[in-house]
Amino acid sequence: MSTPGALLAADKSPPLASVRYVKLPLDVSQVHAAEELIHNAGITEDGRLVWTSSGQTDPGSPSSRLCEPVFERYCRLVVVSDTHDLHSSLPRPLPKGDVLLHCGDFCNEGTDAEWCRFDSWIAAQALAVGCGDRVFCVAGNHDGPRRRHGMPRSAALPSANLLEAQLAKKKLLASTGLRLFGLSWHEGCRALPEPRVDVLMTHGPPAGILDANNGGHSCGDPSLLELLRSCPDAPRLHVFGHIHEAYGAQLCDFGDRRSLLLNVSNAAPPVPGMGWEVTYLAWPVTVIDMELPPLCSE
Ligand SMILES: [Zn+2]
Repeated sequence: MSTPGALLAADKSPPLASVRYVKLPLDVSQVHAAEELIHNAGITEDGRLVWTSSGQTDPGSPSSRLCEPVFERYCRLVVVSDTHDLHSSLPRPLPKGDVLLHCGDFCNEGTDAEWCRFDSWIAAQALAVGCGDRVFCVAGNHDGPRRRHGMPRSAALPSANLLEAQLAKKKLLASTGLRLFGLSWHEGCRALPEPRVDVLMTHGPPAGILDANNGGHSCGDPSLLELLRSCPDAPRLHVFGHIHEAYGAQLCDFGDRRSLLLNVSNAAPPVPGMGWEVTYLAWPVTVIDMELPPLCSE
């Protein structure tokens, strides 16, 4: 994969921030490498995507699909993760899309003030992205305990749907037919719900997949890997963050199903010897156009 986007770190208002764009077909089995699905794009001031080629942006020729979100055949997911209370340094605006996802570690210390700031920010992003109430998050290890002031932590995030270990009901299903399952930190899950989940969202990676830290150690969750392996119908897409230095994409076979796994961390990788502290966001926002199941394609 590419190196961290110095553009975002060095210049808070780049003319065209970079985006990792993924076009995910219904059938991933014919795809042989994740790179076949991934393209570089940029974001215009009004939140449209434009293709970049040969390192050059070309704002004059956005593809027709990239102009605005549609539900006809594709659902556009705008995905961020590990913003560690630095959300405001993400590109503004975020790209237009149908669904906005945050894979956790929106806080750094997990304080009430950080939850509040994130709630305000995500409410504003939902408007900018144009995704209505299709905003889904999972909590990460930096987001504090499962309960806050005696209440479920989801109550502290009124502007988004915080998925603990559950399906995104109705809001996503009704409009797109997609089944999204979110699994927050501190939650366990022995089996994904039937029928097939299309998108799995967790904070951390499964063991051995996009989970290597700077020291080369695998930091992923063995039980999450087992969950995917034991699933009769593995999700087409699994998005997660947590290991900032393992941003990337990988195709994996679970049984006879091929899945795309994406580490979508935005936080800059830790500098060896300098601790884990996140001081800026470096990796591009990920935008995924998912081909919809036949149910909604006509
Ligand atoms: Zn993190």
